[in-house]
Amino acid sequence: MPLKCEPYSGCSGGCAYCSRSGLRDAHRVKGPEANSYRYIEKFFFHNKERMETELIKRRMPVQIGVNSDPLQPIERSHRVTLRTLKLLQDREYPAIITTKFPDRLTEPTYMWAIDGLPLVIQCSVSTEDPVLLSRLEPGAPPLDERLEALSTLHEAGAHVMIRLAPYAPDLVGDVESLLVRAHDAGVQTVQVGPLKIYHANGSRQRLSEALGYDYLQTTQLAYENCGVFSAITLEEQKDHVEQLERAAAEHGMEALTCDDVTGHRAWRCCCGIDGLEGFEAIAEWAYFVNGHRINDHCSFEEYMQGHDCPWHAEFEQEWNSGKLERALPELVFNQDDKTYTRMW
Ligand code: SF4
Repeated sequence: MPLKCEPYSGCSGGCAYCSRSGLRDAHRVKGPEANSYRYIEKFFFHNKERMETELIKRRMPVQIGVNSDPLQPIERSHRVTLRTLKLLQDREYPAIITTKFPDRLTEPTYMWAIDGLPLVIQCSVSTEDPVLLSRLEPGAPPLDERLEALSTLHEAGAHVMIRLAPYAPDLVGDVESLLVRAHDAGVQTVQVGPLKIYHANGSRQRLSEALGYDYLQTTQLAYENCGVFSAITLEEQKDHVEQLERAAAEHGMEALTCDDVTGHRAWRCCCGIDGLEGFEAIAEWAYFVNGHRINDHCSFEEYMQGHDCPWHAEFEQEWNSGKLERALPELVFNQDDKTYTRMW
């Protein structure tokens, strides 16, 4: 989603696998910090000609919480997310929240703030195994509580989804049971994001400490070095995602991955939001949506071929500055010829 809002910098979730700047920032600044609510307010109240203004006119959904959890414990005292929701509610403006703390949204003040708001709640979880979950995600609520909250929010009219992210087939536990329970809570879409173990920032060590063994050395899955991280080989990943797709389909759900490794998504938006009530405005030219894959040394002209992007010039500037490398970790920017290469 091109419109993003980040209520907090850093995160106290303490997830062992967190690859986002959230946890890294949390280490650096000794805890999460609230961002200014003005950041989102200015998009809606200041009518300067800018990309965000135009996107808002077109009612492009806004994603709340990208690099840190917007409903993590600090929200209790700072309420930046609550204020953001109220602002969006006044405009019935579509929003997507990614969180491990959906229970906060069931508190009366939040229920009031999301009443009538077109809202997608993506609840991430890495495993169904309660013991493992408490080790991998020590700061987040148990799965039962997350699902109970999703069920309440579904009843209240929100679109609820599960994000199996990161997905590691040998850590996820009883996936069948997880799907059944998620379905009972009103979930129809399961997003899948395979585990990536970054080489920097002690990622492998954090995961090993949480599990009590060196995961990369012990796993039977075929992991390979993909540059800045290790991940399951594409071939193996395809098999596992296909199994998940079939299992989800048996329960009347769909499983979506960003990279469409199995080729079954037919380039539906990977957030699974297109077609949902209140989420009609999805830009066809946004990253990945048209099914264009960046392969080796992909140039801007090649990438944009056939895309009708109203911000061609702005996007070209971002492209040439290497911004996609920071936004999409599997891409490497080739400074010399201003192209991108997919590592994975
Ligand atoms: S809740 Fe999300 S952002 Fe926070 S530490 Fe866990 S994975 Fe990272």
